[in-house]
Formats: sequence, structure tokens, C-alpha cells
Amino acid sequence: MAGPSEGLTKRRRARKCAGCGAERPKGEMLRVVRAPDGAISIDASGRAQGRGAYICRDAVCLDRALKKNAFARVLKHPVDRSFYGEVAGFLEGKSDDA
Ligand SMILES: [Zn+2]
Repeated sequence: MAGPSEGLTKRRRARKCAGCGAERPKGEMLRVVRAPDGAISIDASGRAQGRGAYICRDAVCLDRALKKNAFARVLKHPVDRSFYGEVAGFLEGKSDDA
């Protein structure tokens, strides 16, 4: 993959997927964030305050992340398994799946 004119101005940091480890532009990934109070949530805007983790918008990556509890590792905070289900629902475009 060759990006057009990269690295000359402000260095655009690629984000690393918590599942597969691939680096992609931020816009192609989903961010999850640990708020200062420890709450873990999906950061759809990508701009929420707190420590962030990124994942490809791909169920396969999410599954990999779940198996190693990658969000907990990246966020340095316990992450409940149900959160991965929440992310899966988000990726599928459902807001709730009762
Ligand atoms: Zn990935």
C-alpha cells in the first residue's frame, strides 16, 4: 500500500489493531476508549478523552482481540467479555441486539 505524500508535514501516526496488529490509518479503525474514571466504551467519534485502543472494523480482528483480551492489555484496565459483544454489535451496525 502506498500512501500519497506521507510524512512530510505532520507525521500521521498509524494505529495498530488490537486484534491482528496491522497498522492502518485511524479513519479505517474503530476506537475504544477508557475514560479517566475507568469506564470502557466505543468511541465512535474517535475523539473521546482517555486511553484509546484501536481495532479494524472486522469481526475477525475482534474475535482475535477477544481471545487474548487485547483491549484489556492495551487499555491497561480489565475489560468485560460482554464489551466485545457490544463492539461486535456496533460493527454489524446494530445498536441493540436483544
Ligand atoms: Zn485488525
